[in-house]
Amino acid sequence: MERKQYQLGDIVQMKKPHPCGTNEMEIIRMGMDIRIKCVGCKHSVLVPRTKFESKLKKVLRSSAEPDAAKEKIGE
Ligand SMILES: [Zn+2]
Repeated sequence: MERKQYQLGDIVQMKKPHPCGTNEMEIIRMGMDIRIKCVGCKHSVLVPRTKFESKLKKVLRSSAEPDAAKEKIGE
């Protein structure tokens, strides 16, 4: 089993593209559930972590910038 590495702010590709035709989602919240936002239409969805991992195809871009990492996540 391969473990997928992802973090807040990453742009990820899902197995199924969003209905709008874009297949790039940004991780905008991480917790028990993960909130991802479509880069194309800005629509966001909340998915359970397990479901997210099963639907995740790959991480396209990692937001490893120090400034972005310091951002606080509001619960
Ligand atoms: Zn979309």
